[in-house]
Amino acid sequence: MLDLLTMRALVFHGTNDIRLERVPIPKPGFGEVVIRVTLTTICGTDLHIVRGEYPVERGLVLGHEPVGLIHEIGPGVTGYQVGQRVLVGAITPCGQCHSCLGGRLSQCGGALGGWKLGNSVNGAQAEYMLVPNAQANLAPIPDELRDDQVVLLADIASTGLSAAESAELKVGDSVAVFAQGPIGLCATAGARLKGAGLIIAVDSDPTRLAMARRMGADIVINPLKHYDVDEEIRRITGGRGVDVAIEALGTQQTFENALRCLTPGGTLSSLGVYSGKLSVPLEPFCAGIGDIRVVTTLCPGGKERMRRLMELVLHGRLDLTPLLTHHFTLDRIEEAYQLFGERRDGVIKVAILPGESQHLLNS
Ligand SMILES: [Zn+2]
Ligand SMILES: [Zn+2]
Repeated sequence: MLDLLTMRALVFHGTNDIRLERVPIPKPGFGEVVIRVTLTTICGTDLHIVRGEYPVERGLVLGHEPVGLIHEIGPGVTGYQVGQRVLVGAITPCGQCHSCLGGRLSQCGGALGGWKLGNSVNGAQAEYMLVPNAQANLAPIPDELRDDQVVLLADIASTGLSAAESAELKVGDSVAVFAQGPIGLCATAGARLKGAGLIIAVDSDPTRLAMARRMGADIVINPLKHYDVDEEIRRITGGRGVDVAIEALGTQQTFENALRCLTPGGTLSSLGVYSGKLSVPLEPFCAGIGDIRVVTTLCPGGKERMRRLMELVLHGRLDLTPLLTHHFTLDRIEEAYQLFGERRDGVIKVAILPGESQHLLNS
């Protein structure tokens, strides 16, 4: 009897201590919905949490990229049915506070406040998950789309694509994308979607550079081969530099390289999460009067954002399934964390299946 009321979930117990355990299945309160998670994944941010680089409460269920079926609907949520397939964004804004109504959904209720799942409330690496503010956050998945076609939209696609959007990239702009991890690869795809002319991808991992080409990069640069990345970018662009430089790693060096390769008056669109201190070198920043824009973006969330991203997949404009390089059942999620954390075996993203479908996948 007890088993019917409990579920398996990956629980954070402290630095480098995560455990798959049985915890109670959540019950939805007012405005909430519980979904049965059918597919999720692990994010670089989850690694930061596990390594103790980003603080969360002990006892929290990790994960913020859920696809699932509606299991139970709380009072006050209308227009949804039990059994419906839904995608939930990594960021779950309330849709009602002054930040949300002002259009800054990711900053719901305060700085970074839109990120709740696997941060301030239990997340998606579990059999069931409670969706807060469900009315604003459940995006029905079109029947034509499979779970694996939409799971990466929740976070990395929404974040990655936002780089070109926040930069207000114009048709024909030249773009350089620094780092081709999952987010950088999506930023490359986003630059293509927004109509960039030339797209240059920078990374030191040849496998990721090959994937960058698949996502839309015209030229790839490996900093291990080109010591002066900004000089190489200037050479490629006929001395002009790029109109938009996207930073998708969160280090001083990539931020500086992004700044140095800009055309006069260009835009640095930053997605990276920096730690410690970030300093701005004044020479490429033109002493602060170079008409340079630096814009930052936290993953846009909410059901309308998810619907729009699914439109891109539905009509063949975006296919991120090549990024799901590995599959694991929830039982083996700790192994998946290791592989993902150590970047072994050409891993880009791992699909985690919490359901009963173990026999469908092996590795
Ligand atoms: Zn994430
Ligand atoms: Zn809000």
